Amino acid sequence: MKAAILEQPGKFSVNSLPIPPCEPDEILIKSKICGICTSELDMWEGKAVGLEFPRFIGHEVGGIVEAVGTKVKNFQPGDHVAVWADGKGYAEYLAIKGEYAYKLLDETPFEYALGEPIACSTNGVRKADPQLNDSVAIVGCGFMGLIMLQILKVRGVGKIIAVDSRSSALTLASELGATDTINPKEKDVKREIQSLTNGVGVDIGIEAAGNQRTLDLVTDLVRMEGKLEVFGFHQGQPRTVNWGYWNWMAFQIINGHVRSPRIYVEGMNIGLKLLESGKLKMDKLVTDKFTLDEINKGFEAASAKREGFVKGVIVL
Ligand SMILES: [Zn+2]
Repeated sequence: MKAAILEQPGKFSVNSLPIPPCEPDEILIKSKICGICTSELDMWEGKAVGLEFPRFIGHEVGGIVEAVGTKVKNFQPGDHVAVWADGKGYAEYLAIKGEYAYKLLDETPFEYALGEPIACSTNGVRKADPQLNDSVAIVGCGFMGLIMLQILKVRGVGKIIAVDSRSSALTLASELGATDTINPKEKDVKREIQSLTNGVGVDIGIEAAGNQRTLDLVTDLVRMEGKLEVFGFHQGQPRTVNWGYWNWMAFQIINGHVRSPRIYVEGMNIGLKLLESGKLKMDKLVTDKFTLDEINKGFEAASAKREGFVKGVIVL
């Protein structure tokens, strides 16, 4: 089978490798899709420290079950599945524990059923635990922020204010249900939020970009005793926060990440059911497609994030 290996930062090679064996608790999948994840960009860009190369990465996989281990009961060959993979996703075949797979409807497009990012976003919303008619600001409307926005709507929130410095992201956010949009390049975000919330700030502020600037910005937007959720994937240099202010404002600080596999899979199942029932729309979010041989180009596009880019996928 063909498989891409990250040889060093900035360079994948595509090699021929044996198809992995299918252990008793695993299913073997003929892959159809693997999403290019921003969490992998630090490895690609060489910013991640202390990593060993070569590496097999890729974890947002969908495909067709080819073989089923003897201990796996709920899948059979021919089933369409989305899986949360632990690497090795940029390959024609992948073996994975059956418990990390979700059985898709046959008509669900693989490119939309990206289990891992949908799981993270669903769990991010579940951790924020929004209440009816809460006002929410999402700071960073990339792929994950735009999935969260749609799931927040399902949870019955009131105002959803999208904040992003790319106008294409804000246009998409409006189309997907944001009630208001603010571009920090054009407007004073804090002042805008104050005027949208009768001068108190939002009930929930979600930081979904993973950098110092957005962390600072969300701090300014949340009301006293409101929820401040750090959902972005913060890598590289340590961040600083104005803890005295967070303290005084009595924010409920929420780490939007989860690590327990059980909760992870639970979120994936919920999110994929929302996709298959039409409540989560992905057609405008998957903007760039590449073949496995074009994987270097795919990572360049994800790194460059041109205006209009939301999500790249490798189609197998
Ligand atoms: Zn991912």
